[in-house]
Amino acid sequence: AEMFGQLTSGLEAAWTKLKGEEVLTKENIVEPMRDIRRALLEADVSLPVVRRFVQAVSDQAVGVGLIRGVKPDQQLVKIVHDELVKLMGGEVFELVFSKSAPTVILLAGLQGVGKTTVCAKLANYLKKQGKSCMLIAGDVYRPAAIDQLVILGEQVGVPVYTEGTEVKPSEIAKQDKGMMDELKDVKKVLNPTEVLLVVDAMTGQEAAALVTTFNVEIGITGAILTKLDGDSRGGAALSVKEVSGKPIKLVGRGERMEDLEPFYPDRMAGRILG
Ligand code: GDP
Repeated sequence: AEMFGQLTSGLEAAWTKLKGEEVLTKENIVEPMRDIRRALLEADVSLPVVRRFVQAVSDQAVGVGLIRGVKPDQQLVKIVHDELVKLMGGEVFELVFSKSAPTVILLAGLQGVGKTTVCAKLANYLKKQGKSCMLIAGDVYRPAAIDQLVILGEQVGVPVYTEGTEVKPSEIAKQDKGMMDELKDVKKVLNPTEVLLVVDAMTGQEAAALVTTFNVEIGITGAILTKLDGDSRGGAALSVKEVSGKPIKLVGRGERMEDLEPFYPDRMAGRILG
């Protein structure tokens, strides 16, 4: 699936209906607004967010005519573009570094979202910026994850610190509550500069809900959105900031070590509008 492909074609229906109109009116934007609403809901953006978005766009659209040679249907594209940028947090949220080294970055997230991959990608990304990095494997409940981190660390040329595992099966079966408490303890001990929740873009608005929960429970500084390359809908990218108040700082866009980049709301909006 092409990134945001489904959302792009869903939104297109809105402008197509306004071709040839000289001015946007309360009446002629009814159908296009319905298209936008439908496209966002199909993208798995949460309903309150969709409502606010459509309201903001309609408020700006009514009365818009030809401006400097740009036709009303294209003006609507511009209004939606700017609202999408705003929705995604507006600016790029950079990683914060500690004034005195080391900067500790704690990555958390549910099973299979891409944490191990992100760890190595992030080390690779920071190394390229001239930082000296070390990875510490804290996922003692899944020995395979530690082995995988060691392999990926070697691949990107970053040392990996591990203490192995002496884990009882009973501990592997710990509940969510246990994980959350443990994460709180880890955070207390490490006093990290960044606490980033890794979420899977394919899970849509569920990803935004998770960011909210983790922020309320342990306090996080932002999110990393993985698997954006396979996400044709875009609901997670559009919902995380608005729903949780926390920004997406980085995105994973593939399985290679190079596939990690900052989250640029304006570029994302550009991609969505095709
Ligand atoms: P963890 O359980 O959270 O540590 O998840 P892993 O890092 O082991 O990743 C789970 C799977 O998702 C692996 O097969 C990864 O290759 C894959 N994966 C991780 N990030 C991305 C991404 O950005 N794009 C794609 N397509 N696959 C990814």
